[in-house]
Amino acid sequence: MTPLSPPLIDRHTHLEGSLDPAWVRREADRRSLALPASLEALWSGGAVPFQGFIEAFLFGAALLDGRAAVREAALAVARRTQKAGGVGFDLWASPHFLVVNRGQVTLDDFWRGLEEGLAEAAALGISGCVVVDAVNHFGPAHGHEVLDLVLPGLPPFVKGFSTGGLEGVPFRDWAPVFDRARAAGLRLAAHAGENGPGANVREAVLEGGVSRIVHGLRADMATFELLAERGIPVDICPSSNRALAADVAPHPLPRMLAAGVRCALGTDDPGVIPCDLGTEQEAARAMGLSPGDLAILRRHGAEDAWCLLP
Ligand SMILES: [Zn+2]
Repeated sequence: MTPLSPPLIDRHTHLEGSLDPAWVRREADRRSLALPASLEALWSGGAVPFQGFIEAFLFGAALLDGRAAVREAALAVARRTQKAGGVGFDLWASPHFLVVNRGQVTLDDFWRGLEEGLAEAAALGISGCVVVDAVNHFGPAHGHEVLDLVLPGLPPFVKGFSTGGLEGVPFRDWAPVFDRARAAGLRLAAHAGENGPGANVREAVLEGGVSRIVHGLRADMATFELLAERGIPVDICPSSNRALAADVAPHPLPRMLAAGVRCALGTDDPGVIPCDLGTEQEAARAMGLSPGDLAILRRHGAEDAWCLLP
């Protein structure tokens, strides 16, 4: 498929949540593991409680236990992106969880698997970069541990640092961690206003100092205006939002765009909640966005992508 202009980018996807379902089935068989009912339910488009999503996500994450599996996971993202007409992706990944918490892969194998997967993606014409994810509700001490782990010998394909998980710890408390990541040359993002209050979005920007927001769904109009004024990009993942933030309705994307927020589309966890860049554009269209709005999403997607940085 010839990429249209501007190029289509998956602006937010997680390594652990983007596995190819066929690969997951094969690996589960090979290891004689039963697939969790929650994963089967999500794959068939069903709704599950949040805990069911976590169970499904962790089942896939547990399969990333070596260099080959990590390479395969990165390639799955590239193939999904390419199939939907995309040419790049910003890939969130959780090395501390896999290497330290779970102890299932060495850091060296994790980086090498990613390096190989991203090189194979590049050979397909797909650009990818990595954003290291830390868990908000584990707190700043955990954030420093993540940086302790990744900063020595940080590979050049790691472009950013982000918080994810539950928005349980105020972003002002995370500021020293973000400062340290910035000083190490990383760009900063935060999952905010997804499972926590909209005020988290404003605090992540003003007190955490992040330059990019993932989701931002629950923010108020004044915060949308602040994001627009500062040119802060926001990654929007409609399928994920429908599954995990179903109470936020109607989806604020049209209001965010109208306020001038630099929104772009991402898939979040397409290996758990089936979607791709095609379904996400369709979802945006179904919110009432015009072809011109969709073109703006696409333009922001490319202009603010970290995977297209030199
Ligand atoms: Zn996410």
